[in-house]
Amino acid sequence: MTLEHNILDVQDFCVDYGYGESAVRAVSDVSFTLGASRVLGVAGESGSGKSTLVYGLTRLLRAPGVISDGEVTFTIGAEGDQRAFDLLAATEQDLRAIRWSHISIVLQSALSALNPMRRIGREFDEVLRTHDKNSSKESRHERAIELLAMVGLDADRLDRFPHELSGGQRQRIMIAMALALRPELVIMDEPTTALDVVTQREIVSELYELRRQLGFAMIFITHDLSLLVELADEIMVMYAGHIVERAAATDLYHAPRHPYTLGLMNSFPPLHGERKELSGIPGTPPDLKSLPAGCSFSPRCAYAMDICHSSKPPLVPVDETGRLAACWLHDPSHSHSVPVELARKHVRGVEAQ
Ligand code: SF4
Repeated sequence: MTLEHNILDVQDFCVDYGYGESAVRAVSDVSFTLGASRVLGVAGESGSGKSTLVYGLTRLLRAPGVISDGEVTFTIGAEGDQRAFDLLAATEQDLRAIRWSHISIVLQSALSALNPMRRIGREFDEVLRTHDKNSSKESRHERAIELLAMVGLDADRLDRFPHELSGGQRQRIMIAMALALRPELVIMDEPTTALDVVTQREIVSELYELRRQLGFAMIFITHDLSLLVELADEIMVMYAGHIVERAAATDLYHAPRHPYTLGLMNSFPPLHGERKELSGIPGTPPDLKSLPAGCSFSPRCAYAMDICHSSKPPLVPVDETGRLAACWLHDPSHSHSVPVELARKHVRGVEAQ
């Protein structure tokens, strides 16, 4: 049996906006690994740092964003023939060779990513030709048709301009282009946010199927946790630039440990099952320039205790599954009971008190 290797290894990764004393930390000490062919979901509200994290990891960050610390190793190739890239030390030339071929990114708005003056067929042709200059026009055309079919679109879409397609069709085209060169890692930054709920769910189902067939690893960023539970193996929840909870997707979704995760879950309707009343999260995300002392979530947290206003909770294992959470409620050295909604057990899709 072949052991699955880690395609991405991120250690103590930090991103600042600005320099010197005016710098604001937007991503703080993020560490995780992603196995080949695995899906990591990253969830959080706007401003939680989730998009800044992946822009930083892939070196697409624009000034005044600065990577201020950490290590990022990207490893490709089969067992015994692996190549590791230090993404933070890679030259622009190295990065150009890696992007599209090994790591591709789908952004939230396909309309701004596609050139409005070009037919879709030309966009595909350019991506395919740039990375294989010896390919024939016919073979590129055939590959473009094959890619469109993978995302459920007819070949006639190649003759259209972006404005002649619906939002869902444009986003499917971006997904097809991201898969064009068979990358090992696909990053999706809120790819369905601008779409209606039905189209969102269709695209998530298609992505699940494509990932199963093609075996790429994926990082899927969203503010909607219910989308991730279908797609992700593991979910990382971010707040104010920090990971506040990380766990297997079903464990996290059905039995959250962090009050912010619970709040996110109560902000969106579930994909399936009974409708429930959505309570959301009171207040607004914090201003990174003036974070509260202690836990950054404390001003919005219904369970905040004295310690929460003075000491920052560390991200530590909180159960036997290896789940991590940064919340004083789960610290055994404090004598308080954990609210039942944050203490549920979860075993293979079944909730139990
Ligand atoms: Fe709420 Fe305190 Fe936990 Fe922060 S540490 S999430 S304020 S209970």
